[in-house]
Amino acid sequence: MNAPFDQSIAKAEKHLTRFRQGTVAHLIDGKPDFGDGRTFESLSPIDNSVLAKVAHGTAADIDRAAKVAKRAFASWGKTSGAARKKILHKVADAIEARADEIALVECMDTGQPIRYMSKAALRAAENFRFFADRAPNAQDGLSLIAPGQLNYTIRQPIGPVGVITPWNTPFMLSTWKIAPALAAGCTVVHKPAEWSPLTAALLSEIALEAGLPAGVLNTVHGFGEDAGRALTEHPDIKAIGFVGESATGSAIMAQGAPTLKRVHFELGGKNPVIIFEDADLDRALDAALFMIYSLNGERCTSSSRALIQASIYDEFCRRAAERVKKIKVGHPLDPATEIGPLIHTRHLEKVLSYVELARQEGAKVAVGGGRAGDAGNYVQPTLYTHATNDMRIAQEEIFGPVLTAIPFQDEAEALSIANDVRYGLTGYIWTRDVSRAHRFAQALEAGMIWVNSENVRHLPTPFGGVKASGIGRDGGDYSFDFYMETKNIAVAVEDHKIPKIGG
Ligand code: NAD
Repeated sequence: MNAPFDQSIAKAEKHLTRFRQGTVAHLIDGKPDFGDGRTFESLSPIDNSVLAKVAHGTAADIDRAAKVAKRAFASWGKTSGAARKKILHKVADAIEARADEIALVECMDTGQPIRYMSKAALRAAENFRFFADRAPNAQDGLSLIAPGQLNYTIRQPIGPVGVITPWNTPFMLSTWKIAPALAAGCTVVHKPAEWSPLTAALLSEIALEAGLPAGVLNTVHGFGEDAGRALTEHPDIKAIGFVGESATGSAIMAQGAPTLKRVHFELGGKNPVIIFEDADLDRALDAALFMIYSLNGERCTSSSRALIQASIYDEFCRRAAERVKKIKVGHPLDPATEIGPLIHTRHLEKVLSYVELARQEGAKVAVGGGRAGDAGNYVQPTLYTHATNDMRIAQEEIFGPVLTAIPFQDEAEALSIANDVRYGLTGYIWTRDVSRAHRFAQALEAGMIWVNSENVRHLPTPFGGVKASGIGRDGGDYSFDFYMETKNIAVAVEDHKIPKIGG
């Protein structure tokens, strides 16, 4: 008997009833829209049963949504920053009021453990508040004085934008893209991931009920190759904020080229955590394990490569293995669960496919390496040791609860291994040597680096990656730079000589 678990199941079932009983619709112009009536199934990672039937978006649905977003932009883009701020705070209030429901539905749809998801809905509300507070100043620019001339810049919302999101922590992640777009004055067509569509339906419903005008946030469900593609190709959509795989980013760039789409990409990672022998090893171990085994390892910023100095390698791996063996795999709503089922059978197969590969390449499967249980998409937390950086388990994003541990001799070798990968999203450095920490951080090829810390986010700081991990930055003013056009206005303050032509 586990009372909190039983209660969560009962509550989740109550919230899922509406999804189980009807079709999950697009939301276009503030109204549920079923497109041509075709649907696809959203499956439970727990047992692969059908959780919901979801409207299968087409290019025609995207076209309707984009035209609505264009029309809505005419007024939302001119709504004062103060008014936008008020409405977006109401959206945040409404998210908080339904945080429990959002968390439970998200866990059931994605397989993410409730211990992490219960905070994710609140983080989403925080995202709205953060950008709401900045809405009144989003248009502010610079004044640049020249002789006889005053230049000033203003920022104006770029227009209707498309937001395309992945399945790993969909609700929080969507708000991180959508909130700044709305705060900037853009209208949005959101295409959520087909493997986790349910909380996106909640978000557009909540925003509408909280007072966001109809047509300002539209949601079209469906697959990447049709609805996603159509969104990136639509001439009325001025920019695409995309979070997902690097290969999809390349495809979107090509699809958006004919309409000169502005793109912002948050893509994959194969992030190193570098642990020197002088580090606080207890804290480094806690952080390294947390950053790869929390959120099912389905986390772009995860520390999936542990680079450990050779002098402490065996001891560190031994201690890591002891801990990894004790990680609790279970139902996402069980408060004791640390790893839930992976999102989809296809993803489970991908994660497991690396086990044989790791053995063939000569790494040791120190812990895990198989399925956990007979049903559902459960996988054992896995630790690969004695790996080298040229192995595929060290180069490719596995996106599961899987850590690859690689030894290094000295700082120079650590840096060379850390940078020898196509990705560059995050890096984590553990050392007590202050100079080395700064030196290493400056040379590490990554967009975000934490020293003696796991990933602790501060919302005004820039978020994004280099190399195959992304283009552009989110957070604070960086998001507004993407969703807005900067305009320079030059005014003569003295009569200057104007060249005469034609007489
Ligand atoms: P994905 O690229 O397969 O799909 C992401 C979204 O793109 C989905 O909504 C999908 O339908 C859509 N899509 C697919 N093909 C498309 C196309 N041709 N045109 C338009 N849209 C298309 O990614 P995923 O498997 O859902 O998510 C996991 C990936 O996301 C991992 O690589 C992970 O690292 C990355 N991710 C990155 C960040 C970050 O901030 N850098 C955050 C979370 C996840």
